[in-house]
Amino acid sequence: MNRFSLANRTAIVTGASRGIGRTIALGLAAAGADVLITFRAQRDEALRVVRAIEALGRKAFALPLDVTASSSIARMVESARGFGPVSILVNNAGINKPTDFDKIEEPDWDEILATNLKGPFLVCQALLPLLKESGGGSIVHIGSVSGQYGGPRTAHYAASKAGLISLSQVIARFGAAHKIRSNTVAAGLIASDMAAAGMSSTTVLKAAESILLGRLGRTEEVADAVVFLASDAASYITAQTLNVNGGLYF
Ligand code: NDP
Repeated sequence: MNRFSLANRTAIVTGASRGIGRTIALGLAAAGADVLITFRAQRDEALRVVRAIEALGRKAFALPLDVTASSSIARMVESARGFGPVSILVNNAGINKPTDFDKIEEPDWDEILATNLKGPFLVCQALLPLLKESGGGSIVHIGSVSGQYGGPRTAHYAASKAGLISLSQVIARFGAAHKIRSNTVAAGLIASDMAAAGMSSTTVLKAAESILLGRLGRTEEVADAVVFLASDAASYITAQTLNVNGGLYF
């Protein structure tokens, strides 16, 4: 039996219309899972991801979700219920607004914390009954090296991602009794829209020089870690942070 296989599993990936979330959704499908993806604004992009998953022979569905709104989360969970037993959740949706510490404005702080930390909390709490009903499962949070070494240029983002590691550990404690594992993949600098926005900063460019492997990461390299943690191959791994950062931080 292939313990890396996700055959007969159903996964939810938040923020999978593009970037890392899109690649994670495709990676889970390639490993055998049916995948429910969510998007906030980019419906057409999300539908393209659905078609790409279907081309892999798996079922897929795109649902609108704003993780900052409980009502939106409740609607997403209701739709997910009709999709079948869900045993994998990937909390990927996230935003960043690189800004020097002394220039960060309160609304931006609130928006980033609401999206990157409170959002995953609300999504996990709302999906917990479905994960329990399916007999357990695996939650993977997409964290960031920023949350491990203080930035750079992202106090709100770094604080949200540090909090996410803690949230994941608490969920691991709570979820263990229900056979639910919870882990974080802490990604380094990954080539995506978000990284492109940050790369204009000299601080970030300087950080990139410290990557031992000498290059940005690829979204596939994050997705591979997620697929592993979602699978039975990681059955004895919970409450951990797996660093996918090319040696930027260790
Ligand atoms: P992108 O900006 O490319 O994509 C973000 C995704 O999140 C989109 O699908 C977007 O949906 C969705 N999203 C944004 N806000 C919300 C919201 N309020 N509710 C629901 N969905 C939302 O980001 P990346 O792919 O680069 O990042 C994905 C994750 O990886 C994030 O958590 C990020 O913090 C983390 N990460 C990224 C790194 C990088 O270098 N890129 C490094 C470390 C971590 P839509 O497009 O439909 O609006």
